Amino acid sequence: MFSCANRFIFVFFTLLPNSGFTQTIVNIGICLHEGDLENFNIDTISGSASKDYLHISAATIMVPDDILDALHSICDKAALENGLTAIIGHTKGKTDNLLKSTSSFLGIPYINTQWIPREFTDIPNSFSVYPDTSMLALAYGAIVKSLSWSTFAIVYENEESLIRLQDVIKLQQYNKDAKRNSVILRKLHEADSRPIFKEIRHLPIYSVLLDCSIERTIEVLQQAKDVKLLDDINTNFFLTSLDAHTLNFTALNSKTNLTTVRLFNPFTSGVQRHTRKYYPNIDPNQISVKTALMHDAMLLLAESLNAIKSTHADGEIVYEPLFCNAPEKYSDKYGLVSALQEATVEGITGQISLPNGKREGFELEIIEIFNREEPIGTWDSNDPEKVVLKRNATQREADIQKRLQNHNFIVTSRLGGPYLYQSKDPEATGNARYYGYSMDLISEIAKEMNITFEFQITKDNAYGNLQQDLIDRRADLAICDFTITPQRREVIDFSLPFMSLGIGILHTTVETAEEANLYGFLGPLSTVVWLYIGLLYLILSFVLVLIARCSTEDWENPHPCEQNPSELENIWDLKNCCWLTLGSITTQGCDLLPKGTCTRIATASWWFFSLIITSSYTANLAAFLTMSKQEATIDSVEELAVQNKIKYGLVQGGSTATFFKNSNNSLYQRMWNTMVNEKPSVFESDNIKGVERVESTKNGLYAYFMESTGIEYEMERRCKLRRIGNLLDSKSYGIGMPMDAEYRHKINNAILKLAEVGKLTELKEKWWKLEREGKPCPVQEPVNTDALALVNVGGVFIVLGAGIALAFFIAILEFLWNCYNISVEEHITFTEALKIELKFACNIFITRKRAKPVISEASSEKSDKEDDAKSHKGILPGLGSFLNVSMLHVDEHSARSPTPKSGSKRRSS
Ligand code: GLU
Repeated sequence: MFSCANRFIFVFFTLLPNSGFTQTIVNIGICLHEGDLENFNIDTISGSASKDYLHISAATIMVPDDILDALHSICDKAALENGLTAIIGHTKGKTDNLLKSTSSFLGIPYINTQWIPREFTDIPNSFSVYPDTSMLALAYGAIVKSLSWSTFAIVYENEESLIRLQDVIKLQQYNKDAKRNSVILRKLHEADSRPIFKEIRHLPIYSVLLDCSIERTIEVLQQAKDVKLLDDINTNFFLTSLDAHTLNFTALNSKTNLTTVRLFNPFTSGVQRHTRKYYPNIDPNQISVKTALMHDAMLLLAESLNAIKSTHADGEIVYEPLFCNAPEKYSDKYGLVSALQEATVEGITGQISLPNGKREGFELEIIEIFNREEPIGTWDSNDPEKVVLKRNATQREADIQKRLQNHNFIVTSRLGGPYLYQSKDPEATGNARYYGYSMDLISEIAKEMNITFEFQITKDNAYGNLQQDLIDRRADLAICDFTITPQRREVIDFSLPFMSLGIGILHTTVETAEEANLYGFLGPLSTVVWLYIGLLYLILSFVLVLIARCSTEDWENPHPCEQNPSELENIWDLKNCCWLTLGSITTQGCDLLPKGTCTRIATASWWFFSLIITSSYTANLAAFLTMSKQEATIDSVEELAVQNKIKYGLVQGGSTATFFKNSNNSLYQRMWNTMVNEKPSVFESDNIKGVERVESTKNGLYAYFMESTGIEYEMERRCKLRRIGNLLDSKSYGIGMPMDAEYRHKINNAILKLAEVGKLTELKEKWWKLEREGKPCPVQEPVNTDALALVNVGGVFIVLGAGIALAFFIAILEFLWNCYNISVEEHITFTEALKIELKFACNIFITRKRAKPVISEASSEKSDKEDDAKSHKGILPGLGSFLNVSMLHVDEHSARSPTPKSGSKRRSS
């Protein structure tokens, strides 16, 4: 790195003695490598340090790379008249070691002005005015800590950088996953470091510490700029070089925040006094640390020489030639080494004293390159853990504000109501292309912050790409329904929340369930069982008829008063048997009971069957109706998880998916596995599709996990949708921004203000309820889910209605048949008979009637016999027509049987 030449320059300045006392001549060798001379003003400094009694002459010794040549150069100089009193060197590595050992042998002090990696404790006559290695490392550590970078990259030039930055590296929070380490280290490439900066640009790293030589700094930064790492306001660069402030960065045209440290402030009066005196033609900003330290080393040496001169009598101090090949090591004859250890001077770089040979007391200033006058903080070696920040909160805010005002914020977002809609106007440009909650929110924030912004839609409209836009420096803010999650917080920052929510389950009310339950009362028994019961009912009724005819006990005397009846009667015709079996199975009982053993056994069996069937039916009915209600609706995530009829899904790539995927809860883990293995896929590319799927899937067989805010929005207009169960978690939406973004605080303030004045609530109301097409859904009354609704038992009413209708129909037929009979018997027309009977029937206040109608009085007796015969034929038997002409005959039998005529059979004894 050093360009050297085998050149030896010896500049000797001598002020000749001009009076009577002896002037001590002091030769100081200034060892430099070629190109290191810079603007160090040897003449002026040595001249002004000289006194009447002390003549300081400084000689620049250009040390070549070759160690032997370098040794010769020094030894030659030491062997001259007056020898060498001290060496000041701006060297390191082997040259530094050579100077140390040579000066030690010659018994003269050696002051280094260059950063060296090792501690200066080994050789007592070695000094360094450069800030001590370990103290400087502490300083860098404390300063980087004070910058509060959560994640950053260290880009370094060589291994020495790592020694310098050891305390910065210690800030690293160790993480097994290398991607998540808070500090990443990258070594600069010799030629092209663009790949390194490109890599950093695509990582969630917004702060870079650059440790490289001052000569390479601009070139390296230009490479960073080439990959657009210097083009955004969110990236920070910290340059460790103490000379960085002397560089001109304007050509870089960087928007990035460049911070550095300096050893002295060229604008202070102390420094300006020196610069005016010794470097009147140089811009104080251009004075390098090397020059300043050379200058300060010279001052320190002059001060020490003055000190020893004052303790010695005139003529006592005489420096003589020194020889590198002398048989013995020289001693520090006049105690210059001790004098140097005790001396203190106020140099350009501040107060210098080297009691242990090294410079432990120094101060550093932290500056922003584009505002070099005002340091933003200071670090003092007396309190190495601490950095004193110079700007108070207000000043810091003002500085940030100044920078933000010149910046047009790029806001990345995604289309999706109610957050962002595409304008219908095809001519619209810029932000006018979009509208929605996000647009309103950021407009309000921009008003508060006095900034401008521009919306852009993220690639594929995907949630996952929002954070990548921030990481890749394509955007400054991400705003939409962007959930704050721990995973995202690792790579980007979030503002304070502007909306709270949780994951809910979106489902729909099941319409078909109502129809299905109309005959819910049939549900407890299957159709086959119903059919078997019906069939059994008929079979048993027939069987009863048959066995009753065989059973002697069931043939009874129709006239009990008559001891020896000529006829016996068996009442168990088909009608009565059906009545008996029906009464039993409906648990109503029957007033007719069999008397025969076999008929009783058959009846008892049927009763037992009926008992089991009806009690099973009754027990099942309630459970069945409740169960069918549950089947149609899901009330919680647990219920959803345990069934497999209703499929459930969610939006891909969003925080809801991450919630299930990373959940430690076994239930959610199970649900996630179910969702992943479901075919066809239950995932949707966005919530709109998810909601449509919930609505369009028949019988409510698809439920959708969605954030409660979205569910609320959809339920406002889509009235069949409902949210089921409680929220699964609780989280919030925030505005995403790059890590450590300096405007985060301002955005937070704006959000707090908007929340305080109710603007956030107002915006939500506007976009959720007011700015919507269609009418809001009616508020639904809570339904008592325990009670059976009409829909559940409606079928029973229908059966009853059908029964009544059938009865009515039969009654009409019977009525008409009766009218026909009357017309035949009474020899009148059917219409006349109908009119008479209808008139009588309609007069509901007459409760008794004659056995024969009035009109047929004359003819009624005549036809008595026929009547009796007809009545015995049993026209419409058992229906008990109130106009039946054989009423008397009926009455006779009614004492024994409710159906005296109908179906009665007589058997000869
Ligand atoms: N708000 C979610 C996110 O920021 C997307 C929707 C969801 O996952 O339900 O990822």
